[in-house]
Parts: sequence; C-alpha cells; structure tokens
Amino acid sequence: MRGFGMLKINSTGWIEAERPAIGPFDALLEPLALAPCTSDIHTVYEGAIGERHNLILGHEAVGRVVEVGREVRDFKPGDRVIVPAITPEWRAVRIQGCGVPACHSEGALSGWKFSNTKHGSFAEFFHVNDADMNLALLPEGMTLEQAVMLPDMVTTGIHGAELADISVGATVAVIGIGPVGLMAVVGAVLRGAARILAVGSRKKCADLAIRYGASEIINYKNGDIVDQVLEATNGIGVDNVIVAGGPPEVLAQAVNMVKAGGTIGNINYFGEGDTLPIPRTGWAYGMAHKSIHGGLTPGGRERMERMAALVMNRRFDPGLLVSHVFRGIDKISEALEMMHHKSEEVIKPVVIV
Ligand code: NDP
Ligand code: ZN
Repeated sequence: MRGFGMLKINSTGWIEAERPAIGPFDALLEPLALAPCTSDIHTVYEGAIGERHNLILGHEAVGRVVEVGREVRDFKPGDRVIVPAITPEWRAVRIQGCGVPACHSEGALSGWKFSNTKHGSFAEFFHVNDADMNLALLPEGMTLEQAVMLPDMVTTGIHGAELADISVGATVAVIGIGPVGLMAVVGAVLRGAARILAVGSRKKCADLAIRYGASEIINYKNGDIVDQVLEATNGIGVDNVIVAGGPPEVLAQAVNMVKAGGTIGNINYFGEGDTLPIPRTGWAYGMAHKSIHGGLTPGGRERMERMAALVMNRRFDPGLLVSHVFRGIDKISEALEMMHHKSEEVIKPVVIV
C-alpha cells in the first residue's frame, strides 16, 4: 500500500509499505477523512521525538472498517468510525496504574502510536489496536469535517481545560489559539470560566476565539503577554492558564501570569530545547503553590463518544475550525505543507478521501 510520511527528519514523501496485518482484537481501516497536525510538523521538521525513517504520518482520522480480528465484538466491515489519535493498549497491566487518561500504560506517551511508533493514517489502509476499546461509531448526522476534529483537536483542547482544573467563575488565559487553543477556549467555557483572555495574533483565529466564547484577545506581538494580562486583571493575574502554543518561554509567562495557588494546564508539544523554564521569582522561590499539569490527550472509545456527544447536543461546532477542504488522499502532502507554513488564513485543513 501507499502512504505519505516522514522519510527522515526534515523530509517527507510517499512511502510503499506492507498492508498491516491485524491481531484478534484489532481492525484494519481505510480513511474517509484525514487531517494533518502541528505535532506532525514538530515531529518532521524539528525532529522533536528523534529520528524516524519511512514512517507514515497521520493520527487524526475518520475511517471505514475493512477487516476485524476474531475477538472484535462491536464493529464490522463497512462501519464508519472515529479513530482517536491516542489508542491505548487497554489490556496492558500497567494501564491500571497510569491514571485516568490511560495514555502511558507501557511507558510515557505509549498510547500515542500512530505516526510515532507505528504507521499512521495517511495511507490506503491503517491498523487500529484494540478496536472495541478504541473506535467510536460516527454518529448519524455528524459531518466528516466535524468528526475528524474529534480524534485530536477537540479532545486535546478540552483536556487543556481539564488539566488547568478550571472552576466556575474563573478568569482564564489561553495561550495559543490555533485549532488546539480554540478548543481549549471551548473547554474553558464548558468548565464554567467567567472570563477568557485568549492569546494569539492571527485575525481569523482571534475572530473564531471570540465566537467560541473568549472575552478578549491579547496579541503577543504587541508586547509582553504577562504585562498585558496583569494590566487587564488589575495586577492580580489569572486563576488558570492553558498553554496551547508558542515556544518554551510561554511556560515561564504562564507561571508569571497565574495567581499564587493557580493551575497551569499544558497541552503544548515543546519541540525544541533540553529544559523548560520556570521563573524563580514568579514561582515565589518555589513556594507559590502554582501547579503545572502537562498531558497528552486522553484517547480511547468512551472519550471519543463523549466528545461526539458534546457536538451532537450542540454544545459547540468543531466544523468551524476547518478552514480548507481538500479532496483525494494525494492532497495530503499539500495539506501538511499548509500546516508547516501557516498563513493568515489557515486554521485547520482537512482531506476528504
Ligand atoms: P498552531 O500553530 O495552529 O497554533 C499555535 C498558537 O500559538 C497560535 O495561536 C499562535 O499565534 C500562538 N503563538 C505562537 N507563538 C506564540 C508566542 N510567542 N506567544 C504566544 N502565543 C504564540 O498549533 P495547534 O493549535 O495546531 O497546536 C498547538 C500545540 O498543541 C502544538 O504544539 C501541537 O503539537 C500540540 N498538540 C498537543 C497534543 C496533546 O495531546 N497534548 C495533541 C495535538 C497537538 P498566531 O499564529 O496567531 O500568531
Ligand atoms: Zn495531533
């Protein structure tokens, strides 16, 4: 089969690969809709997780089931399904001790398989481990454009709000309003934030942030965002920060703008550098009770079903994230390049296969 992937750091292209074999609990799928992710860009162009040779990219997919293993109960060939970016090994013993998101059952980030430790979904066929536990049926009436935002953008952004532990009435800063940060704005609204300060520069993203419920926009190109946030909050700072974009320095800025006792939820994938900065005085010399929670998005079936329920009950429309629609799998290279060199107009491209 043919797939589009990473040939090595800094280089992408079409790859010939074996059609994946499936085990008793697994499924083989063909893609219906695909989306490239900023994480693919960190992986390929920053070498963020190290070298990978001839690895098919892609972890945001809606697909059709082609074949299932003999132990799969709930899915059959022909079913249209949402495929989470994170597909934990639900039968691994250590999943019992790795916490609610179940992302790290066989070691840190082990639930992130597609485009990391196995071929991803930018291919004619792709493999899904533990199909009953990881796939979710595509609900009747949900568009492919909406659905392909669920595997990663929706669940990750909302996880930012979960990690930041936002409570009703909170004042929250969301740093970064690309597609992930926009879904973090939605997450903050759903958790009951009173005021949301959204940080970004591109107008199209800023307009959508306001539409999704941000109270005001802070442009990081107009000066230090810590100063701007403190000025907007009478010098008090915010209760919670969600970090959803920007270089490592934004983590220091998050520490400086969150109140003592506040919580930072980081969903940013820091692609470069050996260490991340925590400002000594901003952290009150280590004694400010400021917490930083960083996490990979939860995956699996129930998580996808819950994200789908939010959309089907009209809590928000993730389809608004989709700024460009391509047709045909050959367009995946163009869509990925669009994520690489994001212009003013790009929020999220989608490929309908
Ligand atoms: P985008 O590149 O689309 O968005 C990044 C945002 O950060 C933009 O709003 C950008 O502003 C803003 N930004 C850039 N520089 C700065 C700065 N110096 N200060 C403040 N804001 C800044 O990325 P995505 O939304 O697609 O993804 C966001 C991050 O989430 C990525 O690192 C991605 O890899 C990661 N990710 C993490 C996952 C997880 O499971 N934890 C899953 C999926 C993605 P503008 O462009 O307007 O200038
Ligand atoms: Zn992703």
